[in-house]
Amino acid sequence: MSKNYNAYDDFLENVEIAANVLGLDPSDYEAVRYCERELKVTIPVRMDDGSIKAFEGYRVQHSTSRGPGKGGLRYHHEVDIDEVKALAAWMTFKCALANIPYGGAKGAVKVDPASLSKAELQRLTRRYTAMILPIIGPERDIPAPDVGTNAEVMGWIMDTYSMMQGHAVHGIVTGKPLELGGALGRQEATGRGVMITTLEILDRLGKDIHEMRIAVQGMGNVGSVTAHELWLQGAKIIAISDVTGGAFKDDGFDMKDVYAHMKTGKLLDTYVAPGIKRISNDELISMDCDILIPAALQNQITGANAGNVKAGIVVEAANGPTTAEADKILTQRGIIVVPDILANCGGVVVSYFEWVQNIQALYWNEEDINKRLKEIMQKAFVEVYDKSVELNISLRLSAYVVALQRTVTAKKYRGVFP
Ligand code: NAD
Repeated sequence: MSKNYNAYDDFLENVEIAANVLGLDPSDYEAVRYCERELKVTIPVRMDDGSIKAFEGYRVQHSTSRGPGKGGLRYHHEVDIDEVKALAAWMTFKCALANIPYGGAKGAVKVDPASLSKAELQRLTRRYTAMILPIIGPERDIPAPDVGTNAEVMGWIMDTYSMMQGHAVHGIVTGKPLELGGALGRQEATGRGVMITTLEILDRLGKDIHEMRIAVQGMGNVGSVTAHELWLQGAKIIAISDVTGGAFKDDGFDMKDVYAHMKTGKLLDTYVAPGIKRISNDELISMDCDILIPAALQNQITGANAGNVKAGIVVEAANGPTTAEADKILTQRGIIVVPDILANCGGVVVSYFEWVQNIQALYWNEEDINKRLKEIMQKAFVEVYDKSVELNISLRLSAYVVALQRTVTAKKYRGVFP
């Protein structure tokens, strides 16, 4: 990752352009340019050998104009405050686009979770929860899983928060295990949403999913589900990757097999099948294919490699995979980019369903959840796509225009306190 890259600057650049399109006065969106709250905490953890190690953690609330802050918790050794600010801001826009009653937030701990034992990870999570406790809550800010965290981590957060309150508080986090009030289909929701948006864009472009050759970067939760769902729809997944590197298969992977492998927690370098060729991350980004789906981390398609992208369509399953500089290059080259805040909002949509169910103590079946997810994703897609056609702008700019408009309108109605 390049050291000078600042994802929050990219967010601000897009906000400025969208504000221009909307003809906003700077006062209308001044608040959107800043995060409402940035909390930095130090988390002391007793390691298994008895020593104490301190970790740095953050919780950032970008905006609560449209509702409580909502956003994931990331465990990654390279995370910093600017990345968390950008992720929180994207959450504000993602929730606005999906038109669900949330603002945007994000949390992170600078740690390589693989280097900790499960007991250490649990102690880290519980102490982090205690440190951010004053600013979270079902009506304030609701964490969820992101890179490096999962349902089990969410369970520990729920338990820690509940212990402090003296009773079980299910709505404090989403992405929980089912037994703790999790929603059916939540784990698959982001990838399923990416599949839905991919089908929508193909429909608008008059292309058939059965003829699509697809490369997916990142075989984590989002990437593996996305690839599996698109394969179920009839696409050929010809290239995949994870942190250990990539793999290419000209006649397409059996994604049922790959998905089963990844679900056991194994990495891609131990996956074997006839006809596989190992490839580098760069080779995957520049793969000769129809659709490229970055589903790993931010800052993957950059000014340095955007010129090599051969896919005609990029669907952003990860948050911020394309830098602003790369985005310009892709747009100039006529490559269609379905932006992250639209493509991957399925996760937060089903998180919203989970939270609603927790509050009501009334649970829906998976069919209901998937049906409602599809409705919201398709509506968001139509709004963004139609606006892009109406104003003759890219899908990213259109998504920013729709989301910014909703966010500033809410802010305007609330007014400025005092
Ligand atoms: P994850 O930790 O489950 O998976 C991340 C994957 O990326 C892993 O397979 C890892 O090996 C791989 N990876 C890391 N560096 C890589 C590299 N340089 N090249 C190729 N692969 C690499 O995380 P996730 O939950 O799947 O999240 C992936 C992305 O999707 C993130 O940007 C996240 O913010 C975004 N996202 C996640 C959700 C969600 O519900 N989990 C929702 C919306 C957006």
